[in-house]
Amino acid sequence: MTATPRGQLFVISAPSGAGKTSLIKALRERRPELALSVSHTTRPRRDGEVNGEHYHFVDISQFEVMLAQEAFVEHAKVFDNYYGTSKAAISEELERGRDLILEIDWQGAAQVKKLFPEAIFIFILPPSSAELEKRLRNRASDDDEVIARRLAEARREMSECHWYDYLVINDAFEQALDELDALFTAAGLETDRQRERHPELIADLLGEVD
Ligand code: 5GP
Repeated sequence: MTATPRGQLFVISAPSGAGKTSLIKALRERRPELALSVSHTTRPRRDGEVNGEHYHFVDISQFEVMLAQEAFVEHAKVFDNYYGTSKAAISEELERGRDLILEIDWQGAAQVKKLFPEAIFIFILPPSSAELEKRLRNRASDDDEVIARRLAEARREMSECHWYDYLVINDAFEQALDELDALFTAAGLETDRQRERHPELIADLLGEVD
């Protein structure tokens, strides 16, 4: 008999331009059982974004009410907007035994590390500064000032990568995806997980069954 262990928490951060969102989307196609936490944000909705699916879009006063109610596990101000992971967004999935990804910035990740030291922290890096700049140019305007600010923000985010558990470099997309996928496989095989999943097998192998 096997039992379902509690879900594992994965925190994934990256500077914009590293390809984090595309990698996570492709990973979830490979692993449909993997849940992705839906954050609350005060930033305006972009074209194609769906409220409740990409984010819960709220105004500042709604965000402040949630803060006062201590409804967030973590929250941070990123590029002039507030973002937060609600307690509700994570507890339900983990209790159901689903593994869950938080796609959040380093400030939020640092708060999660204090509360859930057993979570797995993954940082996605671009392959070079030149490539990062190229990707930022492709996605933003050509305004040099805007690009310079985005590069500086990306550097600030990347300067935190040293305390994460794993670094995935997104040069060739498929390879980065395989590497990310391998981290999820390895996490599922952690000894505590396997002991929770296969208690009778372990007892049998150790001669503990009467
Ligand atoms: P975007 O507005 O482009 O979707 O996200 C901007 C940044 O905010 C990204 O680095 C993203 O990971 C981060 N972010 C998104 N949701 C959250 C959240 O709930 N908490 C924190 N701390 N950062 C978040």
